[in-house]
Amino acid sequence: GAMFNKLTAMPADPILGLLTKYREDDHSQKVDLGVGVYKDESGHTPILSCVKKAEKFRLETESTKVYIGPTGSADFNRLMSELAFGAVHPAIIANRIRTVSTPGGTGALRVAADFIKRCNPNAVIWVSDPTWANHTGLFEAAGITVKTYPYYDYETKSLKFDEMKAALANVSSDDVVLLHACCHNPSGMDLSVPQWDEIITLTADKGFTPLIDMAYQGFGDGVDEDAYGVRKMAAAVNDMILCSSCSKNFGLYRERIGACTIIAKDATRADIAFSVLLYVIRCIYSMPPAHGAAIVETILGSDELKQEWLDELTVMRERINGNRTMLVNKLKEKGVQRNFDFIAQQKGMFSFLGITAAQVAELQEHYSVYMVDSSRISIAGIGTGNVDYLAESIAKVIS
Ligand code: PMP
Repeated sequence: GAMFNKLTAMPADPILGLLTKYREDDHSQKVDLGVGVYKDESGHTPILSCVKKAEKFRLETESTKVYIGPTGSADFNRLMSELAFGAVHPAIIANRIRTVSTPGGTGALRVAADFIKRCNPNAVIWVSDPTWANHTGLFEAAGITVKTYPYYDYETKSLKFDEMKAALANVSSDDVVLLHACCHNPSGMDLSVPQWDEIITLTADKGFTPLIDMAYQGFGDGVDEDAYGVRKMAAAVNDMILCSSCSKNFGLYRERIGACTIIAKDATRADIAFSVLLYVIRCIYSMPPAHGAAIVETILGSDELKQEWLDELTVMRERINGNRTMLVNKLKEKGVQRNFDFIAQQKGMFSFLGITAAQVAELQEHYSVYMVDSSRISIAGIGTGNVDYLAESIAKVIS
């Protein structure tokens, strides 16, 4: 056969290409601000101590590897929905929430995409401009049209909030709007509490379905603080979808564990929607992997391990937020006139430096400082060991 001959190559993932170049670079002070994973001071992505303990416990107590079913683990699902919504959320009490375990946040989004397609084959999903690059491909793969609403203003380094509201006010009640719960990827620019309140009122008024992507719960201001919009939205609307990831906050990246939650008007409608969700899952991967879920449910189900997790999460969050302030201060110290204060005000793993693609290229070629062309930097790549060199290099390139 010659079927494959019709193919043309897809472009390589720019972030992975960057990583390869970085690894091959032998500059002694090279800096990697590309890939979006948490790193400690020494540039290592550690396994959390609570995870190690949970794994040890599972290894000793696990008695079967038999199929788990398309929903995944019931304990994991319950604990994840309590983590997202808080144990006493009215939607939990009204039994209108259904959660399934998924292969990562990506798996949750892909399941959500097929589910939306079954709700409305003509649905359009509205995503922020910009958004996580994979959002577009994931929804298009399910045959859903992706459109954007204004979000980040590259000029003023702030939210285009009025434009965002104006765009959402025109979204059809048959459509879906994707919002980031916290730590917006790639801009780091989150909605404030009053802005969430306005968006939630608008969503309830217009009747479109919100899909909230929560890939960084606990990386912004705290586990409960970061879920503000999720919790308030779920109380204000009939239908909603939540896609969660345990990759970052539990450091479980390669275990591929996340959750997809649907909230319906009442328990009866939730059961119907749930049956469709299970059907969609069976048609994609049948059942989720179990190991990551077992780790998370062991941690969240134990007061002691949960506290240890919260403490380790606080260390990660404070390091990221500390890096933000440290970089801003260093840039000032190196005599940079331009205002970078926005970096310290934004949240999560990323910010746009706001320099030109030519300056990004110069940083890479002459200083071995690596970031994607958009000048999005991964904040966790900064440390006390490289911040001086990094700030100096940026100062030289933008002066
Ligand atoms: N959503 C957003 C906004 C993300 O940044 C990511 C990870 N980079 C994900 C979802 C998916 O994460 P994962 O599939 O690794 O859990």
